[in-house]
Amino acid sequence: MAKTRGEGGRAKAEGAGRRFPAPREAVNRLNAYDPGHYKVEINLSANENPYDLPADLKARITAAALDIPFNRYPDPLALDLRAAIARGYGLKTANVAIGNGGDELLLALLLAYGGPGRTAVTFEPTFVMYAILSELTGTACLKRARDTEFALPQGTGAAAGDIVFICSPNNPTGNLVAEEEVVGFLDSGALVVVDEAYGEFSDRSALGLLGDYPNLVVLKTFSKAFSLAGLRVGFVLGAPEIIANILKVKLPYNVNALSQAAATLIIENKRRFEAAIDEIRAERQRLTEAVGRIDGLTTYPSAANFVLVKSAAPAADLWRNLLERGILVRYFERTPGLADCLRLTIGTPAENDAVIGALKELSASEE
Ligand code: PMP
Repeated sequence: MAKTRGEGGRAKAEGAGRRFPAPREAVNRLNAYDPGHYKVEINLSANENPYDLPADLKARITAAALDIPFNRYPDPLALDLRAAIARGYGLKTANVAIGNGGDELLLALLLAYGGPGRTAVTFEPTFVMYAILSELTGTACLKRARDTEFALPQGTGAAAGDIVFICSPNNPTGNLVAEEEVVGFLDSGALVVVDEAYGEFSDRSALGLLGDYPNLVVLKTFSKAFSLAGLRVGFVLGAPEIIANILKVKLPYNVNALSQAAATLIIENKRRFEAAIDEIRAERQRLTEAVGRIDGLTTYPSAANFVLVKSAAPAADLWRNLLERGILVRYFERTPGLADCLRLTIGTPAENDAVIGALKELSASEE
């Protein structure tokens, strides 16, 4: 709509006051996703990799960009990338679907298998997008509470819904789900989505179950261990029938040509990322121990690239005090089960030193 500048610089829409339809009920109930981004010196809020791609890989991607005809659509089936991922995980192209980030594949799974009359099950607190996308797709969302150590409630497998979302390691608590528990849900006949967005930072994966369970899908992403959050590529590994249904509901050109080329190069060079992953795991251990020794702070064991911390003092104050020192972490206002918790993404050793130092100072000034 054309806009004119009114007095005082305020934008005034032409035809303002005309009626237009209200959004769907589900949209009325939703809030826009707010990752809580601020421009800060040290950003430990979004579970990104602290390291950009290795310089030579980045140079190869930018060089490849020159050969991509930008006037042409990308491969809608992303066949090269899917084949490369399949090779990387010992599977076939028909076992792989690609999304514009893992988020888009969660939406595709709910479009294909959720909807009115269907139920999705989540274990809270967990990744918020499962519930948001359920709401958006008209899927009932059964939110089951984790226990005080964030383990799944016992004996719920048999009572599962149509789609079960299991995040392992779980965002934001960091803990893993045992294979027996995943099997329990698989045996219920539900479509079980094991979200391993952070799987590379742990020693566990549900991928070994794929051969036995056609109702299992494993979600992975290039955004975390593979340093590619900015180019938005995620993937799902599962039985060909499920992949075929995802391909039916996804938008035609969902992953752009440059992102496809970048992700293909990365998966072919997967081993190059191991050293940084090892460093992040070692730093996770160091940060967990150092923060755990600070008065008034408790840490939860994590198998991901972040650590959840519970504060005896109000976490909102701690969050603000860290922000004043140029350090952004994640605070979960009003999230059940996460009262006074902050999530610290593992950064570079220097960034981790900074957050540990700031938390020590803030704890000392409390006394
Ligand atoms: N699953 C989990 C548990 C996540 O934390 C995230 C990222 N925040 C995603 C999936 C999706 O990541 P992306 O869309 O960047 O692939």
